[in-house]
Amino acid sequence: DAAGLFERRRRHFARPQKNYYRKPPEIERGWKEHLFDVEGRAYLDMVNNVTIVGHGHPRLSAAIGRQWSLLNTNSRFHYAAVVEFCERLAGLAPEGLDTVFLVNSGSEANDLAIRLAWAASGARNMLSLLEAYHGWTVASDAVSTSIADNPEALTTRPGWVHPVVSPNTYRGPFRGAGSTGDYVATVSAKLSELDDKGQKLAGFISETVYGNAGGIPLPPGYLEAAYAMVRARGGVTIADEVQVGYGRLGHYFWGFEEQGVVPDIITVAKGMGNGHPLGAVITRREITEALEKEGYFFSSSGGSPVGCVVGMTVLDILHDEALQENARMVGDHLKARLQALTDRFPLVGAVHGMGLYLGVEFVRDRETLEPATEETAAICDRLLDLGVIMQPTGDHLNVLKIKPPLCLSRESADFFADMLAKVLEEGW
Ligand code: PMP
Repeated sequence: DAAGLFERRRRHFARPQKNYYRKPPEIERGWKEHLFDVEGRAYLDMVNNVTIVGHGHPRLSAAIGRQWSLLNTNSRFHYAAVVEFCERLAGLAPEGLDTVFLVNSGSEANDLAIRLAWAASGARNMLSLLEAYHGWTVASDAVSTSIADNPEALTTRPGWVHPVVSPNTYRGPFRGAGSTGDYVATVSAKLSELDDKGQKLAGFISETVYGNAGGIPLPPGYLEAAYAMVRARGGVTIADEVQVGYGRLGHYFWGFEEQGVVPDIITVAKGMGNGHPLGAVITRREITEALEKEGYFFSSSGGSPVGCVVGMTVLDILHDEALQENARMVGDHLKARLQALTDRFPLVGAVHGMGLYLGVEFVRDRETLEPATEETAAICDRLLDLGVIMQPTGDHLNVLKIKPPLCLSRESADFFADMLAKVLEEGW
């Protein structure tokens, strides 16, 4: 049974690799936005930010099987798939960002981006935003400041990481009252500290919509101002599009479009492989030149024929099934339904985000914004009973992390909103 299997998992599968639930159902199969347990019970997967074209997509299974039986090797060999995939990624990026590294995950992509910033600038100091998550590898973890992911985050930073005040417009230092200028001033203060100490800047890494905090858009014009100050000091700007990019926002393919900026480096992973390990760093040729002089970069599986075919098939499906458009339409509908809950339930402090990148933030008091952490955990547990998979996010774990497959139907969105309303009505 599921409990027995879970005990076995705990014996040999290292425990820091946590599960979504204390008593999770044993899942066996996935189809579109649903997962099915061994007894055939359906769960609506509202949290999986990886399977963007949905679970069990037959076109993807067929493409993987075909390429696997034909050829799989590494990018030291010469084959068409890696060339074609990089051409397509360069085609999706803003003009000038035409140079691609292929890796296996978001953490690796961010590690490589930081290494590129170091090499291109000849400096080490990186700015990163408070409340951020960028990965678990040594450098990506160092710039991850979220205390939900790592309670020691703020006391164990290496000296080259300089956290900037969170531009969380709901809960940040200005609590919705601040102007973009107030937030920008916090970046310039951090840069002045470095200037005063005569320390050179390597770069600035951030998500372009504040994902870990629950999908909160940055203040308008924030990145434009921050990027200008960083570039004036010879720093490299990195947009972490691992969660937010690739059509999830519905209204935009990349999150940085929402801010009207073009970064020097884009990192992408998660959805681009729909669950197959796949990540990329997309940048300008000149940013890669210093690394080329230092040595070389190689990933045994990054850029494999199977990986590239998966990546291209995901792009084909996104296009053919108009999934970005679906994320916009269903996301707008879902956001409106969730916003309606704000009037009925004082616990619903705010609904953040856009497209299928939404966050419902629960608070005990709308004045103090005291986070409703225990309530959020209980609501997620109750949602599981009702057939919905949902998890908390944010530094206080009081925000629902709504990042379903982009094929989410309007009916499934309504089901989620209905079930959430039911839980809030009944208590948890
Ligand atoms: N950046 C962001 C914004 C992420 O959300 C994540 C994963 N949650 C990562 C990087 C790391 O990606 P991965 O788990 O593929 O290493």
